[in-house]
Amino acid sequence: MNAALIIDASYFLAAFLFIYGLKRMSSPVTARSGIVVAGWGMVIAVAASFLYTLDVEPEARPLLTTNITLAVIALALGLGWAWWSGKKVAMTAMPQMVALYNGMGGGAAAAIAAIELFGHKAHVGVGLGLAVLGGLIGSISLAGSLIAWGKLDGRIDKTLRLKGLQAINGTLLLVLVAIGAFVVYSHGAVSVGVLAAFFALALFYGVMMTMPIGGADMPVVISLYNAFTGLAVGFEGYVLNNPALMIAGMVVGSAGTLLTLLMAKAMNRSVSNVLFSNFGAAGDEGQGEISGSMKPVDAGDAGINMRYASKVIIAPGYGLAVAQAQHKLYEFVKLLQANDVDVKFAIHPVAGRMPGHMNVLLAEAGVPYDIIYDMEDINGEFKEADVAIVIGANDTVNPAARTNKSSPIYGMPILNVDQAKQVYVVKRGQGKGYSGVENELFFRDNTNMVYGDAQKVMVAMIQAVKSLEGGH
Ligand code: NDP
Repeated sequence: MNAALIIDASYFLAAFLFIYGLKRMSSPVTARSGIVVAGWGMVIAVAASFLYTLDVEPEARPLLTTNITLAVIALALGLGWAWWSGKKVAMTAMPQMVALYNGMGGGAAAAIAAIELFGHKAHVGVGLGLAVLGGLIGSISLAGSLIAWGKLDGRIDKTLRLKGLQAINGTLLLVLVAIGAFVVYSHGAVSVGVLAAFFALALFYGVMMTMPIGGADMPVVISLYNAFTGLAVGFEGYVLNNPALMIAGMVVGSAGTLLTLLMAKAMNRSVSNVLFSNFGAAGDEGQGEISGSMKPVDAGDAGINMRYASKVIIAPGYGLAVAQAQHKLYEFVKLLQANDVDVKFAIHPVAGRMPGHMNVLLAEAGVPYDIIYDMEDINGEFKEADVAIVIGANDTVNPAARTNKSSPIYGMPILNVDQAKQVYVVKRGQGKGYSGVENELFFRDNTNMVYGDAQKVMVAMIQAVKSLEGGH
């Protein structure tokens, strides 16, 4: 059979599997299988690339051997690293890993663009234009994702505030667009220096664009780079005339764009506002004084109080992932349910450190999806709840976002936990949330603090409720 036909058929199948896989990822029930389906699509697409070797002219064979050897080495290294890092990564370091993988995708697209541009291979016209655009976006995404990785990993200070940064960034972008236009206008016949400057500046721009963004705005940036990577890969797919790459890029690009818009909506901000203003930067300067005091309570007492409640809503956050307390939490929830307590989970769209973080954690513990609610579906119910228990969440339940105009998170919709009759906040101490602002919820009259690592607190609550039952 003709190799071209098998390649086309394989790409068609791969594209189908990408789209079908993504469709399955849209619900937590089918998401796991969706990832496997899309993964098979990727295996088929990669395997099909090797079939090109069947059609190569005899005189190109020596080069082919070198290329295949390099490709196999790259694949082995990539697979080995991904396998090892995927196995060993802690759940809490998952967001960083996602940022890193995303950066790799952008970098790969930029590398393809570099080969096409430095080697004068891209077809003059649309192909050249897209190679330049893909190179630009891919480089920005690579550098930006690496900075996001550093911020999530706590290696880079969350924000860089520099006077006139927006003007510098604006100028940088204009220069980049001008160089890109020059490359296209010159039909790609420009010096190596011009191209090197183009890529170096694009990488620098990615760094400069991401450095000032911090605090509660990181989710928007992470999903934006996800969209950028998809776009860049899609453009380079066009340049290489590779349909699987084009479709994979488009699927990632459009999914990432939708996620960016959703994340921006969750923050009640526009994407441009996130990118081009220093609003949302870390720190709580100018937030104003908070009155009241934090009132600690024993974990066991709080657990017993919930055992006698009729409605309890749980607001999980990043600390739940740190403590890996999801299994113990669900064990506690089952105990409450056995005592006819109506228990629901309230998920804030930016809780944790990556989109969907809390859903992943709760799914891992086997929490049924029908008791997990998105913010907008449950926010009206807090006022009927006897208890709202906040476990390792902070920014996503900070009432300052609603009322305090000087707060860096002002305007972000929050979970209305403060409207419950009684609020318990489980956290280790006085630690702030990712945005670095103090939380006035902790000082409210109806709030009590349950200090301790979330897992240990859950164990204490379980023991208290069980001992109560044993005693009856
Ligand atoms: P936060 O990051 O606001 O707060 C987490 C809280 O958990 C801390 O106050 C900490 O307090 C507590 N904590 C940490 N470890 C433990 C532990 N072992 N046991 C108990 N508590 C613990 O969490 P939220 O989920 O409410 O908010 C997420 C924040 O992260 C938002 O600002 C969001 O914008 C940002 N972000 C989100 C991303 C996403 O895609 N979802 C990506 C990047 C950032 P203490 O130290 O006292 O224990």
